[in-house]
Amino acid sequence: MKQVISVKDVQEMVRSGKDPHSLPADALLTPSARDYLRELEGPAGYKPVAGHSISPAAEAKPVTSKSSKQEIDSFFNSPRIEELKRQLCDIGKRLWQRAYVDGNGGNLAIRVGEDIALCTPTLVSKGFMQPDDMCLVDLDGNQLCSGNGKKRTSEILMHLQIMKRQPRAVATVHCHPPYSTGYAVAGVAPPTCMIPEYEVFSSVAIAPYRTPGTPEMGALVADLVDKHNTILMANHGVVSWSHNNLEDAYFKMEILEAYCRTVLVASQLGKPANTMTPAQLQDLLKIKQSLGIPDPRIGLKECELCDNNEWRPGVTCAIPNQVNNGDQSVAPDDQAETLVQAITDQIMSRTK
Ligand SMILES: [Zn+2]
Repeated sequence: MKQVISVKDVQEMVRSGKDPHSLPADALLTPSARDYLRELEGPAGYKPVAGHSISPAAEAKPVTSKSSKQEIDSFFNSPRIEELKRQLCDIGKRLWQRAYVDGNGGNLAIRVGEDIALCTPTLVSKGFMQPDDMCLVDLDGNQLCSGNGKKRTSEILMHLQIMKRQPRAVATVHCHPPYSTGYAVAGVAPPTCMIPEYEVFSSVAIAPYRTPGTPEMGALVADLVDKHNTILMANHGVVSWSHNNLEDAYFKMEILEAYCRTVLVASQLGKPANTMTPAQLQDLLKIKQSLGIPDPRIGLKECELCDNNEWRPGVTCAIPNQVNNGDQSVAPDDQAETLVQAITDQIMSRTK
C-alpha cells in the first residue's frame, strides 16, 4: 500500500533534520504537503535551520491580513514561519527554566509582516509549548490562524500596540521575573550608572498599573517605547522589544533581571554602592547609540547622567566650565551673581 504523506509529516521530517527527498518515490502527497515541498525548494532553496533569525524582508511575496485565506494559511505553514514558531517555543522554555514565568503567565510575539504577527497561545505554560500552539494575528489582535485551535494570548494587544507605535519592534517578550517585578511592584526604577551591560542594552521606564490585556494597559506601555526598550509594568511584570529578533528581546529580560538582583545584593552589603562617573556613562551611551538602541539620556549633559535620586529627562544643570580659547562670553560665577543681585535690587525698588 502506498504511503500517504501529509504536510504535518513533511514538517516533522524537516523539524527532525531529515531530508524530505528521502520520501519513497511512490508516496502519495496531500496537496498541502506538495505546496509545502514546493516552497522548501523555492528560489532560495531549502536551508537547514540553525536557530538564526529570519528577517521579514527575506520573504518573497509579502502576506498581509488582507491576503486570501489560502495565502495566509500557506504562509502560516511555510518553512520560515515554522522556524519562528520553534524560536517562540525555545525562548518560552528559557523563560520558564529561569523562573521568569509562573503558571501560564508571560507571552511572546514576532512581527512577520506589515500588519501581522505570530504569537504564543493563552493558557499554556511557556515551558511546554509546541510549534502548533502558535497563533497568527493581525495588528488589531484578530486571530487569523492557529495550528491546533489554540487561542492567542489575552495580552496580545500590548505587544501589538508596541509594534504599531514603534515600527522598529520586530519582537516582544513579556514575563514576570521576580527581581525586576519586585521593582515594578515597589514602583522603583532601578538605579543607574552601576553596570555597563545594563547601561548599553537596556532603557527602562515604569508604566502605571492597568488590568492586564486591556487596551488602556497597552496604550500606557506604548507611550514609552519611543525612548525605552524595557518597560516595568507596575504591580505586574516586564515587557521588552527588540529591533533585531526574539532572542535579543529575551536578552533584555536576562540583563534587567540580573541587574535588579545584583543591585539588591549590593544594597545589602552595608556600604553605598560605587557608581561610574558621568563621563564613563557617556562612553557607554555612545556605544548604545551606535547599536541603534534608544535612551532618553542620549544628548543630555554629562552632569545630568548619573543623578539617581532625582533623575528626570527634563532636568537642567550647569555645563562644566569649558576651555573657550580666550572667548570670555561665559561670565564667571561672581560676575553673574553681582548681575543677578543688581537686577533683584532694581525689581525690589520698583515694587516699593
Ligand atoms: Zn503578565
